[in-house]
Amino acid sequence: MTAPSVIILLGPPGAGKGTQARMLEERFGLVQLSTGDLLRAAVAAGTPAGLAAKAVMEAGGLVSDEIVLAILQDRMAQPDVARGVILDGFPRTAGQAEALDALLAGEGRGVSAAISLEVDDEAMVGRVAGRYTCAACGEGYHDEFKQPATAGVCDKCGGTGFKRRADDNAETVRERLAAYHAQTAPLIAHYRAMGLLETVPAMGSIDAIAEGLAAIVARKAG
Ligand code: AMP
Repeated sequence: MTAPSVIILLGPPGAGKGTQARMLEERFGLVQLSTGDLLRAAVAAGTPAGLAAKAVMEAGGLVSDEIVLAILQDRMAQPDVARGVILDGFPRTAGQAEALDALLAGEGRGVSAAISLEVDDEAMVGRVAGRYTCAACGEGYHDEFKQPATAGVCDKCGGTGFKRRADDNAETVRERLAAYHAQTAPLIAHYRAMGLLETVPAMGSIDAIAEGLAAIVARKAG
C-alpha cells in the first residue's frame, strides 16, 4: 500500500480553502484537517489550549506554533487520517512547515503537494464578511455567492440553524490578511524549492476552482 497523501491548501482567508477541502474530502475520500476548526472546538470546550488561543484568534493573529502543533499531532494520530489528509490552514509559519516535514519524515513519507489558491486580496474582505455555515453539518454559504436553494434550510442536511464566525468581520480579516502575507506566504517559496508547489487560479466559480484542484489531487493522490 502506498503512503497516505498529505495535500496542503495555501491561501489567504477567504481564498476558499475550507470549501474546496470539503469538496476534495467527498471526491477523493481524504480527510479535511482544519487547524482553525480544531482551535474553535478547543475554544468552545474551554480546554487550556482553547483558553490560550481565544484572544489571539479574535484579534486575527496566529496562535503559537506550540499550541497548533500539539493539536495537529493529536489529530494526525487518529486512525481515520490513514486515508490521507487535506491540510486546510496548516502550516501557517516556517516553524510549522518544518515540524510537519519532520513529523512525516519520521514516518518515511512527506508532503504530496502544496497547492496555492491564487486570489486578489481586495476581494477577500467581501468574501469573508458575507460567509456563514450550517450549525449542524458545517456546510458553507455566503450572503452573495452561495445561498441555500431554500432560504434558511441547509442544502446538505436540512438543518435550519446557521452561524457566523466571530473573526469574520472586515477589521479582523485585514489583520488575518496581514498575518498571511507576513508569516504564511513565504511558505510558497519553501514548497516551490522542494518541487511540491502547485498553483490554482481561485477567483472564478467554486466549481471551476474545484475542477482545477481535483486535476492536481488526482495526479498527486489518486
Ligand atoms: P481559519 O479557520 O483557518 O481561518 O483559522 C482561524 C484562526 O485560527 C486564525 O486566524 C488563527 O488565529 C488560528 N489558526 C488556525 N490555524 C492556525 C495555524 N496553523 N497557526 C496559527 N494559528 C492558526
